[in-house]
Amino acid sequence: MSLLADRKALVTGASRGIGRAIALAFAREGADLALLATRRDALEALAEEVRALGRRASVQAVDLRDGAAVQAAVDAAREELGGLDIVVNNAGITCDQLLLRHKEEDFQRVLDVNLTGAFRVTKAAARALLKSRCGRIITVSSVVGLTGNAGQSSYAASKAGLVGFAKSLAQELARRGVTSNVIAPGFIETDMTAQLSDEQRAAIAQRIPLGRVGRAEDVARAAVYLASDHAAYVTGVVLRVDGGLSM
Ligand code: NAP
Repeated sequence: MSLLADRKALVTGASRGIGRAIALAFAREGADLALLATRRDALEALAEEVRALGRRASVQAVDLRDGAAVQAAVDAAREELGGLDIVVNNAGITCDQLLLRHKEEDFQRVLDVNLTGAFRVTKAAARALLKSRCGRIITVSSVVGLTGNAGQSSYAASKAGLVGFAKSLAQELARRGVTSNVIAPGFIETDMTAQLSDEQRAAIAQRIPLGRVGRAEDVARAAVYLASDHAAYVTGVVLRVDGGLSM
C-alpha cells in the first residue's frame, strides 16, 4: 500500500539534492507535488519525472526571499493541486565564514532564505494545512543547528532557529491536527557538500559510526515516514539522519 496515497505535498528546494529526493520519494508513495525553487528548468525536468510516476506536479519558480512571490506561488500550487496536506521546508544555503570576516549582509541573507523563507512558506500554506485531515510540516534543519560548527555561525543560527520555529508550530497546531517535525541531516552528498576534497570526505566518513556519508535518499525516507500515517502520533521531534555522527 502507498504511504502517501493522494496526499498533496509542497517541497521547497526541490530542484536538486535532498529536496529533489524527497519529491521523488513522495511521488513514488502516491503523493502529488508542488515543486518550489528558483530554477524553473530544473523544476520542469523533475515535474516530468513526477508525472512519469503517475502523479501530478505543479512547478513554482520563486525566490524564498520575496514574501509576496512566495504567497502567490503557494496559492497557485494549492489551487492547481486542490489543497495542501504536507509542507516540506527544505531549501537552504550556506555562507561559510569565520566571524571576524563574516559580513552582516551575508549573515542576513542566510537567515532570510533558511529561516524567514520557511516562515513565509509555512504561513502561506497554513490555512490549507488546517483544512487537511492529516496536515504535516516537515522542516529540514541540520545537526549543525544542534551542535554549532566553526565557520558556520549564520548557517548554524538559521538551522537552530528552525528547530525553535518547528517546535512552536508543533504546540500551536497540535489541537488542529497538524504535526510539525524536524529532520536534522548530518553529512549528505549533494551540491552543498560537493566542494570538499576526497581527503576531507574520507576524514568525515571516519567520524561517522555507520561508516559512510549520507545520501539524499536517506533523508527522503525519513521525510516519507514523518509525512505518513505511521507518524500520526509524532510531533515536535528532531530526527537526526546522520549515521550516528552527532550522538
Ligand atoms: P542543495 O543541493 O544546495 O540544494 C538547495 C536547494 O535550495 C536548491 O533546490 C535551491 O534551488 C534551493 N534554494 C536555495 N536558495 C533558494 C531561494 N532563495 N529560494 C528558493 N529556493 C532556494 O542543498 P541540499 O544539500 O540538498 O540541502 C537541502 C537542505 O538540507 C538545506 O536546507 C540544507 O541546509 C540541509 N542540509 C544539508 C546537508 C548536506 O550535507 N547536504 C546537511 C544538513 C542539512 P535552486 O537550485 O533553484 O536555486
